[in-house]
Amino acid sequence: MAEKLLLFGGTFDPVHKGHTNILQAAYQQGGFDRAIVLPNAISPLKTGSPEASNAQRFEMLELAFSGLEWCSISDMEFNMPQPSYTVNTLEKLKSESPSAQLFWLCGADVIKEFHMWYRADKIIELASLAVVKRDSARRPDFAEIEAKLGKKLPHIIIDSPLYDISSTEIRRRLSSGNVISGLVPEAVEQYIKENNVYSANSAG
Ligand code: ATP
Repeated sequence: MAEKLLLFGGTFDPVHKGHTNILQAAYQQGGFDRAIVLPNAISPLKTGSPEASNAQRFEMLELAFSGLEWCSISDMEFNMPQPSYTVNTLEKLKSESPSAQLFWLCGADVIKEFHMWYRADKIIELASLAVVKRDSARRPDFAEIEAKLGKKLPHIIIDSPLYDISSTEIRRRLSSGNVISGLVPEAVEQYIKENNVYSANSAG
C-alpha cells in the first residue's frame, strides 16, 4: 500500500504546544505512516524574516518532537529558493517518494485564502490538506474556499481541542518579560532562555 505521509510546514518561530498537539492529533487520526516537519526559510504568507535563525528554529523543533519515532525534522526548505512555496516542497518530496500519498497539515487560518497560494492548482494535484480548526474559528467554510478556487479542495479534517497559542504571542511575551511556561515544551523554553533566542531573554 502507498505510504501515507503527513507534512507539517511552518515558521515555528518558536515551535509551541499548539504545533505539537495538532501534529500528534493528526498523526493519530489520519492513519499516517510517518510525519515530516518542515521549517520554512521565508514564509510567503508573512512579512519579514523569522526572529530566530534557521539553526535555532530547527534545534527547537528537534527538542519539541524528540521521542516521536514516527516524526522527523527536515531542513530542505532552508536550501531551496525563497520564499518557501509549498508547491516547490511538495514537488521535491513527490520526486523523492513518487508513490507516497501526501497530506499538508495546516491550521484553518492559513487556508482561508488558499486560492491565492502560489500554484494552488498544482498543490492539490500533489497533496491533500489536513485541516485543523484554530482559535474560535469554526470549521473553515470549504464551500467558500472551493468557490474561490473553482474546484474541489481535497482535504481531511483533524479534530483537535482549540489551542489559543501563537508564536507571535510567545515572542510578544518574551519581549515584554512575561512568562511562557506551559505554552512551549519545557526543553524549548530552556533552549530559548539559555541561548537568548528572543530579545529580552526572559523565558520564564
Ligand atoms: P505566528 O504567530 O508567528 O504567525 P504561528 O503560531 O501561526 O506563528 P506557524 O509556524 O506560522 O505558527 O504555523 C505553522 C502552522 O501551524 C500553520 O498551518 C498554522 O495554522 C498552524 N498552527 C499554529 N498554531 C496553531 C494553533 N494554536 N492551533 C492550530 N493550528 C496552529
